[in-house]
Amino acid sequence: MIEKFLEGNRAFVTGEFADKKAFYAGLAKGQNPKVLWIGCSDSRVTPERITSAEAGELFVHRNIGNIVPLSSWSFATVLEYALRHLKVEEIAVCGHSDCGAMKALGKETEDVYIPLWLNNAGEVLMRVDAEIRRLPHPPDERGRRRMVELENVRLQIAHLRTYPLVRRAEAEGKIRVHGLYFDLDSGRVTRVP
Ligand SMILES: [Zn+2]
Repeated sequence: MIEKFLEGNRAFVTGEFADKKAFYAGLAKGQNPKVLWIGCSDSRVTPERITSAEAGELFVHRNIGNIVPLSSWSFATVLEYALRHLKVEEIAVCGHSDCGAMKALGKETEDVYIPLWLNNAGEVLMRVDAEIRRLPHPPDERGRRRMVELENVRLQIAHLRTYPLVRRAEAEGKIRVHGLYFDLDSGRVTRVP
């Protein structure tokens, strides 16, 4: 399988890379992305492709469930580098439909690491179930799952704002934070209200 992608790289080198020589020569000297994109590792949710972003435009952190963990060296390092060094101006947390991580929330499993990681989204189910109890007509399974996926984006943004670095930058008007949702059926990315 990797051969297919090495072949794909050869096509990139002789195609786009050759055609946009000056652009890629500029990128070889440094990056200046304006957006930190926090998304899911899902193979179908490719940030650059679904937003038509160019190389160099998105600084990306992806993990299972587009989580903003409260204690992870990996995530904290990405955040610190993006804000203090790259000086990104916007942060987007992007959830998506048919998210395996959101389906796995609260399910029994023999996995070891996945449930531990998903504890970072544990509160989502409680929030959604409380919301559903207030609704006159409960949603079907698909509707409930969408509520879970959307609520997870809101929760992860709340996590993001627990980082003093983010709170300070936001208070000073240096960054804006956005919640986004990618719908695999329509291909659309919309804002999470
Ligand atoms: Zn996902």
